[in-house]
Amino acid sequence: MAKTTLAPTTLAPGARIGIVGGGQLGRMLALAAARLGMSCHIYTDRKDDPAIEIAAAATIAPYDNEMALAGFAADVDVITYEFENIPAWSAEFLAAIKPVRPSPAVLALTQDRLVEKNFIASLGIEVAPFAQVDDAGALARAIAQIGRPSILKTRRFGYDGKGQTLVREGSDLAVAFRSLGGQPSILEGFVPFVCEVSVVAARGLDGDFVAWDVGLNTHEHHILATTEVPASIDPDLRVRARDKAMRIAEALDYVGVLAVEMFVVSTPEGKRLLVNEIAPRVHNSGHWTLDGAATSQFEQHIRAICGFPLGLARAHGPVEMINLIGDDIFRWRDFLDVPGACLHVYGKADARPGRKMGHVTILKSAERDDDDSTR
Ligand code: AMP
Repeated sequence: MAKTTLAPTTLAPGARIGIVGGGQLGRMLALAAARLGMSCHIYTDRKDDPAIEIAAAATIAPYDNEMALAGFAADVDVITYEFENIPAWSAEFLAAIKPVRPSPAVLALTQDRLVEKNFIASLGIEVAPFAQVDDAGALARAIAQIGRPSILKTRRFGYDGKGQTLVREGSDLAVAFRSLGGQPSILEGFVPFVCEVSVVAARGLDGDFVAWDVGLNTHEHHILATTEVPASIDPDLRVRARDKAMRIAEALDYVGVLAVEMFVVSTPEGKRLLVNEIAPRVHNSGHWTLDGAATSQFEQHIRAICGFPLGLARAHGPVEMINLIGDDIFRWRDFLDVPGACLHVYGKADARPGRKMGHVTILKSAERDDDDSTR
């Protein structure tokens, strides 16, 4: 990937950061920026997004509105995103006015599962077997090559299990392809994984790379439910996972925080790691760092995009992060009584099923130490 051509500017407190996307990730980025004395301008197409009330300024306009994008860019010193499904040309448009970090090229690459998988494989990093599927005929050929069960995924705009369908023995291929709207897709072999892990890491403007310890993730209905750190996997596997994330970040000439999701598979020769996905942004499986690490992923991202030195990623001790999805948020009060529990509420008005409403970080050492505390 081409190296960044913009001069590496270093900003200072007082600077204004533009964040494209107004969800909880933008909200937590804006809070971290405020602590470093910087203000944020949120660009979103939804007027009730939770980042808006935290930010100094907001532009509410479609992601492809040139005039609104230009006004937003003029008001800020550096631009980042917390939501990767913005048109790649919007990111290019912004980058012609102000530095966009991570670069629009990274955004474009991670928006397309086929391009992303080819890129990861080109680094010699293992991924699930995959094949391009542009029509029902190509799906039949891909099944002949990869077998069943397998997962058909749209190349673009998939998240939290949306835009994918399992192809089992006996599944009708034409129905499967139509169920995703007949969109350009990829077929992936179903990975019989032992567990899912992620590496959340940061790369600075100067190329410095810092990774937090690996998280073990569980999902419910394809949505992240919990992250446990450190992941209860072999220490050697944790080192290998972080090394893969570093190779990916370097090959992308990445600036900012990224997450790399991986499957752990068991083979007669030992455990192997297959990379599933790259998220070019702060990530839900890194939320524990707000309470459980020397530097949070949100502060680290702000540091990276501003050209500041990166902070230490050391964890204070073992932690578990629990997502509060939909109605779970109504249990907020219970968590305030749990020793070592840190509650985060995103301020979303409507607790729809499947909606991420908040999270709780449980500091395991605080639970143990509670008896000696002076509270
Ligand atoms: P994704 O949208 O690719 O992150 O997939 C969402 C979830 O679906 C993952 O976290 C896995 O639990 C599951 N999944 C995705 N791809 C595969 C695969 N090739 N084999 C098995 N499970 C998968």
